[in-house]
Amino acid sequence: MLNIVLFGPPGAGKGTQSEKIIARYELNHISTGDLFRKHLNEGTELGLLAKKYMNEGNLVPDSVVIGMVDEKIKSTPGVKGFIFDGFPRTVPQAEALDALLSSKGTPISGMVALDVPENELFKRIKERGKTSGRADDQDNDKVMNRIKVYNDETLPVAAYYKKQGKYAEIYGIGEIDEIFNKICVEIDRWK
Ligand code: ADP
Repeated sequence: MLNIVLFGPPGAGKGTQSEKIIARYELNHISTGDLFRKHLNEGTELGLLAKKYMNEGNLVPDSVVIGMVDEKIKSTPGVKGFIFDGFPRTVPQAEALDALLSSKGTPISGMVALDVPENELFKRIKERGKTSGRADDQDNDKVMNRIKVYNDETLPVAAYYKKQGKYAEIYGIGEIDEIFNKICVEIDRWK
């Protein structure tokens, strides 16, 4: 199996690039942000629980996120691989993901990290906020908090994969297809 972690700050272009990666490599998409938004729209208990964290731009507790991913992986047998988008966002989540995958006899192939400067992230998220309908895209303080949470809690996850020699960094500014081609060069090495 090919199991990719797509990493980067909010607004780095993970959603856009994951669509293209999925189409080329036939991977199953696991976006924890999308899954939480689905629960929120459907008004499930999990959605209600996640809502207060998401609206402030804080992380949903690890146990909740890990449980949701575990269920999602188990409900999709026989796939060619997964692309994890917006997950793992903490080192305990990364450790839990390793455990979940090793129980399926398959490891993470590698992490692709999109590198985008902060001023550009801010611009992109505010622009997306005009149409995304996401409360967390529309308020300056919430956007700033998401970037702060990323720097404080999520960045150490990159080191976790670097240590294992499973890390590739791609500069995330430029044409979408140009960035995609650079991502494919890395993924093809892991196939
Ligand atoms: P973005 O990358 O634009 O910040 P996401 O759609 O990935 O947005 O996530 C939206 C929100 O959902 C996050 O701010 C957080 O509250 C919650 N969330 C998503 N994934 C995780 C995760 N792996 N761990 C904790 N919280 C998460």
